[in-house]
Amino acid sequence: MNHSLPVFAAESNESAPVVLVIHGGAGVISKEEMTPEKEKAQLAALTESLQAGHAILKTNGTSLDAVMAAIKVLEDSPLFNAGRGAVLNSDGVVELDAAIMDGATRKAGAVAAVRLIKNPIEAARLVMEKSRHVMLVGEGAEAFAKGQGIAIMPQDYFITEHRKKQLERIQKEQKQAPKPQSFRQKEQTTDLVGTVGAVALDRHGNLAAGTSTGGMANKKPGRVGDSPIIGAGTYANNATCAVSATGHGEYFIRAVVAHDISAIMEYKGLSLSEAADLVVKKELVEFGGEGGLIAVDRKGNITMPFN
Ligand code: ASP
Repeated sequence: MNHSLPVFAAESNESAPVVLVIHGGAGVISKEEMTPEKEKAQLAALTESLQAGHAILKTNGTSLDAVMAAIKVLEDSPLFNAGRGAVLNSDGVVELDAAIMDGATRKAGAVAAVRLIKNPIEAARLVMEKSRHVMLVGEGAEAFAKGQGIAIMPQDYFITEHRKKQLERIQKEQKQAPKPQSFRQKEQTTDLVGTVGAVALDRHGNLAAGTSTGGMANKKPGRVGDSPIIGAGTYANNATCAVSATGHGEYFIRAVVAHDISAIMEYKGLSLSEAADLVVKKELVEFGGEGGLIAVDRKGNITMPFN
């Protein structure tokens, strides 16, 4: 078994620091699932994602643009649980969630349970910038995205053989040996790997965060996780930090993880890493919530705790 939170940070220090941190999900991957070839391909996609975002920051672009560009690369790769290649719900359908937040204005946009939007992070950005709302779900979100002219794909585009087999395996295991709820939840962590997220600080001193996911394999149709919930899986505030989380969403929603870190910094004066450790390694652990997060503060400090 292999603990994995693929994370990379890029910094450069000319006039003001720019920072970009990305993740490809947290969880426990079995050796059979993670072959050297697959690991290499995932690292290549993560590198491409990091370069796409960093190219924007380096040329004085915005943290919002960098976060979106980095996440789009991973949504387009079939190797992560976001966009194409995302996990299947119990009906064998891909349903995607994503959110983005601007730390300068605290404007935010999110989509949830969408089945046909090629890049949910792009739709989330459009909800933020082109609608009066923060979150659109399901068919309404898809109609909005279509109206905004972004790519719509048939459901088949999103489904991969690997995810079909994964669902078959989970459903078979559950039929054969139904386990008490808490143990089953733990076991399913193996299927959490691959949510993607990014946090960035740009030359203008602005923070942004974004997260995109297919959620949990074998989830009920209509289930929404923490990723698109502002303050749970995604949050950015120039006064404190930008956070993108990954893990067992139900717990991250109940512990309001991302906002809690920001609030602890703001009200208690703790540093980013102290606040993040408190939430991820203490509160979440006491709660029983597994996962982790990436975060950056306005000075460019980064942290990436997971439990
Ligand atoms: N947090 C996501 C969710 O529960 C899953 C993940 O991060 O892997 O929807």
